[in-house]
Amino acid sequence: MEFCDECGSMMKADDGLWVCGSCGNKQPKDPDASFVITEDQEETEVVDVSDAEDRGLPRTEVVCRECGNDSAYWYMQQIRSADESETRFFICTECEHRWREDDN
Ligand SMILES: [Zn+2]
Ligand SMILES: [Zn+2]
Repeated sequence: MEFCDECGSMMKADDGLWVCGSCGNKQPKDPDASFVITEDQEETEVVDVSDAEDRGLPRTEVVCRECGNDSAYWYMQQIRSADESETRFFICTECEHRWREDDN
């Protein structure tokens, strides 16, 4: 839910924008939001490879310990009760193995 900066009315989600039904004001949704998985979501709900492609997640050169492939998608996720606010996760582009950066 989002409220209009101009008139305080409720705004509706429309194609990546918040649109005010009263005055027509438009605000972009946060373009970086899809790269951070909030801590409210379970780890099982985290993106798979096809979802990573849909979201346009960045790829990097890193070796997968499961299949030896050298390319993986990565994203930041906040870990409950971790010292750091965010941890980097990798998803192998070949076998979809998923691991945390600090496991290495
Ligand atoms: Zn408005
Ligand atoms: Zn792999």
